[in-house]
Amino acid sequence: MAEIQLKSLAHSYSDKPGGPEDYAIRQLDHVWHEGGAYALLGPSGCGKSTMLNIISGLVQPSEGEVLFDGKRVNELSPRDRNIAQVFQFPVVYDSMTVFDNLAFPLKNNKIPKSRIKARVQEIAEVLEIEDKLYKKAKNLTADEKQKVSMGRGLVREDVSAILFDEPLTVIDPQLKWKLRRKLKQIHEQFDITMVYVTHDQLEASTFADKIAVMYGGQIVQFGTPTELFEQPNHTFVGYFIGSPGMNLVEVERSAAGVRFRSTQVDLAPWQVELLKRLTSKNIKIGIRPEFIQLSPTASDDTYEAEILDMEDLGTYKIITVQLDQQEMKVRMNEEFEGAIGSRTNLSFPQQWLKLYVDEFLVQEPQ
Ligand code: ADP
Ligand code: MG
Repeated sequence: MAEIQLKSLAHSYSDKPGGPEDYAIRQLDHVWHEGGAYALLGPSGCGKSTMLNIISGLVQPSEGEVLFDGKRVNELSPRDRNIAQVFQFPVVYDSMTVFDNLAFPLKNNKIPKSRIKARVQEIAEVLEIEDKLYKKAKNLTADEKQKVSMGRGLVREDVSAILFDEPLTVIDPQLKWKLRRKLKQIHEQFDITMVYVTHDQLEASTFADKIAVMYGGQIVQFGTPTELFEQPNHTFVGYFIGSPGMNLVEVERSAAGVRFRSTQVDLAPWQVELLKRLTSKNIKIGIRPEFIQLSPTASDDTYEAEILDMEDLGTYKIITVQLDQQEMKVRMNEEFEGAIGSRTNLSFPQQWLKLYVDEFLVQEPQ
């Protein structure tokens, strides 16, 4: 096991990169601590696979360093880095039995036969493929093949880390849930550093203790699921995490805060103060649908809005409201009553009203 540090890392697939848009990874520093269960979450094309391949050594970064326990490994081959990597699609030897497939990484490392047998049996049990051990891999279903592929990643006990690159893509939804729980269990049992790549927030938060959200070749936030929800560090995190995502409204500076069209939104004094010191005109406010309050009665700190739509999702409702031509989503419990086309009164609790300048959160000074 190892701590994996990425130092001033950047990567371009182009030989002569021009601007930042030519980089799959844009200048990042990050540490994956030893023994952690991590997810790397982001949309397709944001650089997740590139990052994993740089860690495992399949890709040489164009700039920066990869350190394992403080030692530079840029020059080490994938084999010498001792990383197990599981890919989106199964990598198995069709002509070998499941047992031999699982034993392969251990035989390569000259592990004694009796130990190999015990370890293969243990992993096969965890993945529930022990009855398939003596079948040829070519006779397995796609699900089973992927389990074998994962098993090959999990079987070695000496690895620095296991990297999973969207490993459950080919698995059917029922089994997906089960395997994700299994991976978590395996992490708890063996305490190995694991990095799990996915574009699915639910998958990320059920597996990981901490999630790195990646966007446009950068890690825009590294935090617990709660931190990503309550304190999104970047508008992308606000938008990508949560269902629906954060309401984000483009605004301009005003005396006591910000405004959009004729709507004045007061901010906390520290937010006003910090906003004065920044020059950018790219300003947004953000508030999650869970934190907007709706009330039938108006008061000093409410805004009158219209209910445009209501979606009943069984245990809660998503209300679409319009305030000064600006649509927002509000999450209410199922008891909420209101009629489409009627008026309601919104309020934004100050604690949950976030300010973003150049897409990054303006943080309260400690
Ligand atoms: P993700 O895994 O998050 O979907 P990738 O790391 O695969 O993202 O890709 C990041 C960016 O790098 C994308 O713009 C992609 O098109 C580009 N890219 C990935 N692999 C290669 C490659 N071998 N050659 C050139 N460009 C690539
Ligand atoms: Mg990928």
